[in-house]
Amino acid sequence: MGKPKIATVWLEGCSGCHMSFLDLDEALVDILSKIELCDTPITDFKDFNFPDVDVGIIEGSIANEEELKIARKLRAHCKVLVAWGDCAVFGGINTLRNTVPKEAILRRGFIETESTVGGVIPVDPELPLLLEKAVPVNYHVAVDAYVPGCPPSPEAIAYNLTEILEGRIPVLPSDMMHYD
Ligand code: SF4
Repeated sequence: MGKPKIATVWLEGCSGCHMSFLDLDEALVDILSKIELCDTPITDFKDFNFPDVDVGIIEGSIANEEELKIARKLRAHCKVLVAWGDCAVFGGINTLRNTVPKEAILRRGFIETESTVGGVIPVDPELPLLLEKAVPVNYHVAVDAYVPGCPPSPEAIAYNLTEILEGRIPVLPSDMMHYD
């Protein structure tokens, strides 16, 4: 049997969860020797020429239509889907905008604030449309395991990956669980 294939995607959030992953340092080399990494946030996932993988890892919440498409696509192509970080687990900091109507956000961003688009809300079909609310990943697709934290600790990420590589659906021990 070949190495398990893992794909990661990065939706609405920052780079903090990935930085925490990289903070595994030498342990990362060991993990990477045991897996085949099929996609990362810096490759162009938008083409959707996406292979079937064993594990999909999502960071970030779902806040626009493109992110929703990506989450659904990854879910359809992986056996186990893991949400890393508070944004993916419960929406995190992105949900701060949910108290304001979407139209008011767009008006503030493009009309009431000096911008490079001349005071109009852009309607370019290439631009992803904002969803009414930023939501956690499991609002739209089934998630199998969670690693909360903003960002999750490298130890929690390592535990999660090790369990998956040993064929178990990880349940994070409570002493590794933290919500920021
Ligand atoms: Fe960034 Fe925190 Fe969201 Fe991770 S959970 S993407 S570190 S804001």
